[in-house]
Amino acid sequence: MSTFYMPTKVIMTDNAVINNSELFKKLGNKALIVTGKKSAKLNGSLDDVLEALKKENIDYMLFDNVEENPSIENIMEGAKAGRDAELIIGIGGGSPIDAAKAIGLLIKNPDIQPRKAFWNSEPLETLPLIAVPTTAGTGSETTPYSIVTDHERKTKQSLSQKIFPKYSLIDIKYFLTMPKSVRINTTIDALCHLVEGYLCTHSNQMNQWIAEEGCRLWGQAKEEIYGDTISKESMDKLIRASTLAGMLISHTGTSIPHGMGYSLTYHHNVPHGKATGIVLKAYMAICSEDKVNKIIELLGFDTLNAFGDFIKQGLGDLTISNDKLKEHVAFVSKNKAKLKAHPGEITEDDIYNIYKESLNIK
Ligand code: NAP
Ligand code: FE
Repeated sequence: MSTFYMPTKVIMTDNAVINNSELFKKLGNKALIVTGKKSAKLNGSLDDVLEALKKENIDYMLFDNVEENPSIENIMEGAKAGRDAELIIGIGGGSPIDAAKAIGLLIKNPDIQPRKAFWNSEPLETLPLIAVPTTAGTGSETTPYSIVTDHERKTKQSLSQKIFPKYSLIDIKYFLTMPKSVRINTTIDALCHLVEGYLCTHSNQMNQWIAEEGCRLWGQAKEEIYGDTISKESMDKLIRASTLAGMLISHTGTSIPHGMGYSLTYHHNVPHGKATGIVLKAYMAICSEDKVNKIIELLGFDTLNAFGDFIKQGLGDLTISNDKLKEHVAFVSKNKAKLKAHPGEITEDDIYNIYKESLNIK
């Protein structure tokens, strides 16, 4: 059986925000805008949202302090800033959009403890969300996931609440300001979503069509990812690939590379895309050869090794100690959800070997 569910209306066009201002009015009269510290002010996305709100006479508050890989404490700060908001607007990369999802949940459920609300067994109501993405990486604009940094558990974790944006307004001009390193890390995150979603236990035929098209688009744009600048045409393909990847992982979730990457981000401060991408090739080497060959072909590489070399060229190296390596292996080996996403058995030794092949161990 194949099923597909994607309740977010995605509008991908020039001036998507200003030309669709009436959508904001549909969702409420008082907005909380959630952004990172700088980029939304520099790439024009915040100005466009402010203009749309002004046009529709909507009041707003601004929380512009979302950190990368937002922590629970950072999200609570955002919820405090927007206590009486009726709608949430998340602008930026995955960090502000994920934070916006979690903040909306806390504002709507003020009497529930944040941890209880995030990991409540029953679905809770949340504020409606409009996403305005500015990185072509996480696909958060089309996923129900919000990933938070939990200092108590010393890791990153997805909320059990599933929060799809009501609308995602995607305008290519916001993406063209990404510095090269952010472009590389985030587009490789999208690639991980495509590959992990395609290979994972939960994928079905409809998901695989999406993954295949996403890989094709990513492959057509790949030569420009490492350039100092990128053409509009290639950026457009990468945005489409990452938005499709979001739709894919909405159904499949992510798997082992993401599980392994969370430890590298938490303990070694490695950006999310690099943390997952760095172990991707070694993970693919233990997966179904037929499916891996199909991915490699769609991406336009001759061999898995050529693919691995390409990724390494973009991400560079990472060195960690042997003690840390052992700690991460033990931690990932307990992550039942990620292990379950791998078809077949995956042992502690496999995880050790994937890290070992991907990183420098001192
Ligand atoms: P990010 O943490 O949102 O942003 C990384 C950096 O890029 C920040 O310094 C940000 O600046 C900057 N930036 C963003 N857009 C820019 C632009 N257009 N021009 C210039 N700079 C820009 O990065 P991300 O990789 O998109 O998101 C990572 C987070 O998403 C992680 O927490 C990860 O776990 C999560 N994630 C979520 C999903 C999901 O399905 N929801 C899937 C995978 C990953 P500012 O801080 O100033 O904005
Ligand atoms: Fe990711």
